[in-house]
Amino acid sequence: VAAPDKSYIKRYRYPELNDQIEKVIASLKINDEQLKHIMRTLEEEMNTGLSPTTHKQSSVKMFPSYVRHIPDGTEVGQVLALDLGGTNFRILSIKLRGNSKIDLTSKIFVVPQSVMIGDGRHLFRHLVECLSDFMKKEALLHTGICYPLGFTFSFPCKQESLSSARLTAWTKGFSCSGVVNEDVVKLLQDAINEKGINVKCAALVNDTVGTLMACAYREPSTAIGLILGTGTNACYIENLDNVGTWNGDYNEPKQVIINMEWGAFGDNGCLNHIRTKYDEEVDLSSINPGKQTFEKMISGMYMGEIVRLIILDLLQQELLFLGHRDTYGDYKTPLYNRGGFYTKFVSTVETDEGIKFSNTRRVLEDIGIRNPTFDDCVIVQHICRQVSTRAARLAGAGLAVLINRMKKSNITIGVDGSLYRYHPRFKRNMERCMENLVHKDLKFKWALSDDGSGKGAALVACVAEQNSSGIFV
Ligand code: BGC
Ligand code: MG
Repeated sequence: VAAPDKSYIKRYRYPELNDQIEKVIASLKINDEQLKHIMRTLEEEMNTGLSPTTHKQSSVKMFPSYVRHIPDGTEVGQVLALDLGGTNFRILSIKLRGNSKIDLTSKIFVVPQSVMIGDGRHLFRHLVECLSDFMKKEALLHTGICYPLGFTFSFPCKQESLSSARLTAWTKGFSCSGVVNEDVVKLLQDAINEKGINVKCAALVNDTVGTLMACAYREPSTAIGLILGTGTNACYIENLDNVGTWNGDYNEPKQVIINMEWGAFGDNGCLNHIRTKYDEEVDLSSINPGKQTFEKMISGMYMGEIVRLIILDLLQQELLFLGHRDTYGDYKTPLYNRGGFYTKFVSTVETDEGIKFSNTRRVLEDIGIRNPTFDDCVIVQHICRQVSTRAARLAGAGLAVLINRMKKSNITIGVDGSLYRYHPRFKRNMERCMENLVHKDLKFKWALSDDGSGKGAALVACVAEQNSSGIFV
């Protein structure tokens, strides 16, 4: 059971508020028994997703990535990578030198909001414009060489090979027209050809797969790729015998990395019993209602928003910010607006230990609550902790399913994402709950990946290109 924060609650100056506040927050608590039930449901959904006859019904799509080999550090070549998945995207130039040595340069570009929700052709033209600028700066244009490119595309895609992938739905605030159901590799390659630069998109990988590959390059025991950022998802190495939807060959190694798309877990209603009214509200006001149920309870795009809705609820029940009726009564605080409480505030608030609450005060003053009281700080921190702990426990339960299923000890979880990096307690909270959920004899460790997903895509593209040109088969 999640450690209750009662010690803090007891310090309220108005202890009569405790019960009412606890009532609001109780809906967020998920105990170990419930987590074990969720684990069983997730594994059922996984099996349903892997079987061709039931695939349609599953909320967890379990897409084969067509990546079968783990890199071993001997890869050589000059490759480009393009990493698209959040508010900015990244272009990388990577030289693999063998002996596990990599030279890497990269540049971050923004994706303007107008491009995120505009015409799909415009999106791909924008990507290629940036790619061309980057290549010019790196002196990679007009060299007479056709560079292979690995495309990290962090959205759900049904792949038919390494270099063909149909987008099944946009997530995380993207909604470009004309891309769903299309082959994203083809859309990118068309834009590349139109621009006339000498680049061939050799592989598309999900960011989880890129992260797994990048971590495996240094740490061969890596068997899971995890993203806890704007969105959330995991991939892992599955036995081909378990992949009924597999249509490739059965050569050694008899394994393939599966992109789970666990963010969609629950989209068929199987998690409704743990959803709160705040989750429902977050969902309804999102760009993709009814979609990404699990993601909306976990990831950075939504965490601040859940906290905001709870704060607002307490405020309207007159349980919080009692000295500031003038502020919120006049709607002077961004708390009334969607997105008015950033997820990074959750991390900041939870950085406070003890009773000074200097960070929490700063955040509250940022949103127009001047001179917050001690109680205000205690309660806001309590809300943040409950929301982020629930998220960590759900992600931890998902990981526990994978570790128990693979039954291999000493595996490494390759992980990336802002939530994992910057939230002060997320990792600890995942580990704490996993202690009770992972089989006792199975040990695991974490590897944080730097530049992970792009580097991983470059590795996949490099190997794919070498195999297709017959050089290193
Ligand atoms: C996408 C996944 C991605 C995850 C993390 C989700 O919204 O559907 O494909 O791996 O975000 O970026
Ligand atoms: Mg990313």
